[in-house]
This record gives sequence, C-alpha cells and structure tokens, in this order.
Amino acid sequence: MKLVSVVVPCYNEQEVLPLFYEEITKIAGEMSVQYPELDFEFLFVNDGSKDNTLNILRSLAEKDKRVRYISFSRNFGKESGMFAGLENSKGDFVVVMDADLQHPPSFLPKMYSYVRDGEYDCATTRRVSRKGESKIRSWFARKFYKIMNKISQTEIVDGAQDFRFMTRQMVDSILHMSEYNRFSKGIFSWVGFNVKYIEYENVERPAGTSSWSFWGLFKYSLEGIMAFSTAPLAISSLLGIISCIIAFIMIIVVVIKTLAFGEDVAGFPTLICVIFMMSGLQLFCTGILGQYLSKTYLETKRRPIYIAKETESSYLNKKTQADTPSESNDPPKSDTTEENKL
Ligand code: UDP
Ligand code: MG
Repeated sequence: MKLVSVVVPCYNEQEVLPLFYEEITKIAGEMSVQYPELDFEFLFVNDGSKDNTLNILRSLAEKDKRVRYISFSRNFGKESGMFAGLENSKGDFVVVMDADLQHPPSFLPKMYSYVRDGEYDCATTRRVSRKGESKIRSWFARKFYKIMNKISQTEIVDGAQDFRFMTRQMVDSILHMSEYNRFSKGIFSWVGFNVKYIEYENVERPAGTSSWSFWGLFKYSLEGIMAFSTAPLAISSLLGIISCIIAFIMIIVVVIKTLAFGEDVAGFPTLICVIFMMSGLQLFCTGILGQYLSKTYLETKRRPIYIAKETESSYLNKKTQADTPSESNDPPKSDTTEENKL
C-alpha cells in the first residue's frame, strides 16, 4: 500500500472547510477505486484561526480516522503551516493544497498519474490566467516574477502555485531547508527534481475571503527576493561606486573652476543637491544592508518555525480519558509519537 498525505494549511476557513472535506474525501474514494494501492491521510494545519476552524477539525478527526490535525498556538503564516504539514506527514506521497477549493481536488488523479511511475517527482499546477484578480495586483505579480527571474539563479515559474503532488524524497529535501524566512515558491524550485506543470484557469473561492492583502503580498515578494537573491546587495554596491565616480569628477570640476574663475557662492544650490543625493544614496544602501542583516539576525536565533498547541492525537486522548471513568488505571493506548516530535 502507498500512503498519500494531503496537507492543508487553514486560517479562518470555517465556511469552506466542510465543503473541502466533502470534495477531498469524494476524490480520495474515487482514487482508491482507480488505484487500489492508495491509502489517504488528511493532515490539516490550523494556523491560529480565530473562527470555528479548530472545532470543525476536531469533529472531523473524531468521525474520520484518516483526519489528522496540528493546531498552532497562534497565526504563524501559511509558510509555517506548510512546513508543519510536510514535517508531520507520513505518506509516500505528499499533496499540499489550499482549503479554499482554489486548488481543485479533481486534479489529484491526473497529478498522481505523473508521479506514480517515478517519471516525475512532483506534479503541480500553473495558472495561465489571473482571472478574478485585480489589474494592479496581476501587474505587480507579473513584474515580480520578471525581476525575480532576472536577479536570482533559482527559477520561479510565473503562475506556479503551492498546489503540489510530491514524492517523499522531494519532501525530505524540502524539509532539509530549515530556514526561518521561508519562501516556498523558491524552495520548491531550489530543490530541483523533475516537475510537471499542469496548466489551468484560475478558480475563485466558493466561500470565505482571501487573507492576503496587497501590502501583505508586496512584503512577501520582497521576502522572496531577499531569500533567493543577493542582487540588491550588489545594486547597493554599484550605486555606491557610481556615486563615488560622480563625486570624484565633480571635485575635479570644482577645483579647476575655482582655480580658473576664483570663488563665488553661486554653487551653493548645487552643493545642497549633491549633499542630498549622496546622503540619500547612502541611506538607501545602508537600508538594503540592514534588511539582509535583519534576516540573518532572525536566522541565527534559530527560532522554531511553528509551535503546535494541539494535535488530533492529544485531543482524542484527552477526550477518551475524560470519557472513561477513573477506575480504569491503564492509560488509553495511542500513538503519542506525534506529540513527542512536536
Ligand atoms: N493560510 C494560512 N495562514 C495564513 C494565511 C492563509 O494557513 O496566515 C491558508 C488559507 O487558509 C488557505 C491558503 O493558506 O488554505 C491560501 O490562502 P488564501 O486563500 O487566503 O490566499 P490566496 O488564495 O488568495 O493566495
Ligand atoms: Mg485562496
């Protein structure tokens, strides 16, 4: 038998979670008929949701043995959610997908057909259109991919998504990249392997809202650039060199001018301009340095990528303990390895 782990990061997804569960179990059932060697586990990661998501996950775990979950102590972001899911998945194959049905579960059989025989190590989808997205947002997104691919050696495919069907080998390589500032699009691409891109049209959310603001996405894209390229540092050095050359030429010009025509105060405005320009450039370059330094600072702290507060096994254990009267001294047997690991 081969186990497929479906990893689903969830943040305030109470509206779509029941729909998602229904869809995914339907597809999993169909796949088990088509490929009898397949078994499934659904590993949800509750990323500090403020709504009813955790309760929904608890009740799903109670009624379906295949459902597992990890609940974070606060919101750590989708990247941490994916990492936690990958780290705790047990499958020979691992699927990462969003809970909001924007990653259609109906694609799974096709994705599996690519990775099944080992021809590919990963099957993923690629949006060919950005339908349903605002014009400014897609313009910025396109520019981001363009700049990113120019200044970084790691190729980041425009429209590639975090919807992936991967082999255990690829997942293990991803887990070896234990950096704190995670940019999955870059990490998936950095590890290499044979990747099959399946093109598809963008799907809109059936319920709930996207938790990404424009500003949030902008910050995320800077994160990506800094995680996978040191070009901005080179830009700052280049700017420094250029401004030094300009300043040097100007000094010569000023010296010759003073020697030839004597001194006057007419150059005062130019002086102010130059001072502004130079200090601006200096601040700009120091700023870039500072950004990288702050990232390095966070990496050296080696903080955990996530903190789990509850898992399905801890919840079910507690529940059975509460249900069984105190005369039974034997603690209920269950798999606690998960908790130890967390
Ligand atoms: N998500 C998460 N933590 C966050 C934000 C989002 O786990 O802090 C999850 C969310 O529940 C969803 C997926 O990441 O399953 C994608 O989020 P969303 O739909 O908001 O992003 P978009 O599709 O707009 O890129
Ligand atoms: Mg979405």
